[in-house]
Order: sequence, then structure tokens, then C-alpha cells
Amino acid sequence: ATPMSIMVGVGRGAGLGVLIKNAEALERMEKVNTLVVDKTGTLTQGKPSVTQVVTAAGFEQDKDELLRLVAGVERASEHPLAAAIVDAATAAGLSIPEVADFDAPVGKGVTGTVDQRQVRVGSAAFLTGEGLDPSALATQADELRADGATVIFAGVDDQLAGIIAIADPVKETTPEAVKALRAEGVEVVMLTGDNRVTAQAVARRLGIDRVEAEVLPDHKADVVTRLRSEGRVVAMAGDGVNDAPALAAADVGLAMGSGTDVAIESAGITLLKGDLTGIVRARSLSAATMSNIR
Ligand code: ADP
Ligand code: MG
Repeated sequence: ATPMSIMVGVGRGAGLGVLIKNAEALERMEKVNTLVVDKTGTLTQGKPSVTQVVTAAGFEQDKDELLRLVAGVERASEHPLAAAIVDAATAAGLSIPEVADFDAPVGKGVTGTVDQRQVRVGSAAFLTGEGLDPSALATQADELRADGATVIFAGVDDQLAGIIAIADPVKETTPEAVKALRAEGVEVVMLTGDNRVTAQAVARRLGIDRVEAEVLPDHKADVVTRLRSEGRVVAMAGDGVNDAPALAAADVGLAMGSGTDVAIESAGITLLKGDLTGIVRARSLSAATMSNIR
């Protein structure tokens, strides 16, 4: 690769909203045959909102009381799901209580004491690990997940209290970009910490046939490494703090411009517009740059 053709490529990329940090990323992009994409904030808009609150039979209080207690813990979390819950509580006119003893096991959920009650919120697996039994609401949860909603479980004082469904619509540009990449022979793999049923419902709508779901943040990079060890050339696209190690582990890391600074620092390419169409552009740019070189 001549420095001149790389410079031309980098300049042309900037005009297309594709910010190239290193020459290798530009060179490798055309050889990429596998694209691993984080679901939340990359395929989806990253603006989740609460669509349903369901209380458990044993929880003798109403949906507003459940939402109020859960929002009390979530106000201390920086997760996009937490923001959705706090927004819903505020919109319902609830005053959100203070939390004590807050803890946030990453990729699992949050816990804390609200109004002298022990509140736990997170995935079904997280609540089970905390000694609660989420099974009474498992069927309802799967129905909501089949629509692509993320379902989080809430426990109050060692009892299952309810579930909250949260929807995050896919970005308008995602289906077309996935289609274009597949037409170029790129296999798209969805990578998410979310539940398998939810992930598959979203993937099916987008024509994505491979899903790696329920992956803890620490293991996202392992998935990328495993795919590379199969001989694939892997690009990883993500936006979150959790995605940074996976971005660094890929042949090409692609950060969403709308994402966190940590993700942007870990990636070789930043997509300013923060959607997947930039990846299609980055590939043609790479091909054009490399053919100028040859
Ligand atoms: P993603 O891969 O979609 O970015 P995360 O790894 O951040 O997902 O989270 C995985 C799962 O952990 C979520 O789907 C949710 O069940 C649970 N979780 C994480 N943080 C929170 C939180 N603040 N409140 C409730 N649930 C949470
Ligand atoms: Mg994410």
C-alpha cells in the first residue's frame, strides 16, 4: 500500500463519514467476510422504552409501585435499559425514591435497597443466581420476547415481583445494510448479552442467521477470537464500553460515532453516522484503495 493511495482513501472516507484511524483497518476491510454486530445501539436505535409492566401474583402491589421501586435502583445505573425505566416512571408521574447499597454486576443487572426493601433487577438468570424463582412469569416473558422486546425481571425482598418489557426499535437503515453486506458474501453475526429468544426475534426480522446471545461482556472478545480461529476475517461493530475488548480483538474494529469514547478509542474505523450503511461504504472504499495500489 502506497502512502499516497492510503491518504486518498482516508480523505475520501472522511467525506463519507467513515473516519479511518489506521491504514491496516482500511486495507483489511475489503477482505472481511464476517461481520459481528452488537445488537443494542448498533442494530437498534439504542433508545429503548418501556412497553409493558406485569406484576407477579405474589406481589401485592400495583404496577406503579413496582415501577417506582425498580426506578429507584435503576436511577443509579448508566445502562440504556435503566434510562428507559427511569423515563417511564417519570412519565407516569411517580416520584423516584433514593437507593442505598447499590450494586451493578456488569451484563447482569442491578441491586439496591429502596424504601427499606431489597430490590433486584436484571436477567432471569441473574435473579435465579440471587436465589429467586422467575419461572412463574417465564411464559409471559417469552411471549414479549417473541416480539423482540428485552424483558427484565424484578425481585422485591426475595420474592419475584414482576417483569418489565422494553423495546428498542431497529435503525431504519439496518435491514438494507444487512442485505447489502450479505449480497457481498459477508456473514453477519449478532452478538448480544440479551436473551436468546429476543435476539432471535430481532435477527429474523433483519435476515441475520447467526446469533450469539446471552454473552457476558467479558466473553464478547472470545466470540470474535473464536471466529478468527476458524480462518475468517472478522470485523466487529459496536458502541458500548462492553464492546471495547471485542473491537480490539477483531481484524477491523468499527465504532459507532454515536457510541462511547472507549469504543471509539478501541476501533480502527469510526462510522460518524452511527449506522451499518457506513460499513458497506468502508468496504467499497477499501476495495477502491487496494485496486489503486495493485
Ligand atoms: P447488550 O449486549 O445488549 O449491550 P448487556 O451486556 O449490557 O447487553 O446486558 C445484558 C443483560 O443484562 C440485559 O439484557 C439485562 O437483562 C441485564 N442488565 C444489564 N444491565 C441492566 C440494568 N441496569 N437493569 C436491568 N437489567 C440489566
Ligand atoms: Mg450494547
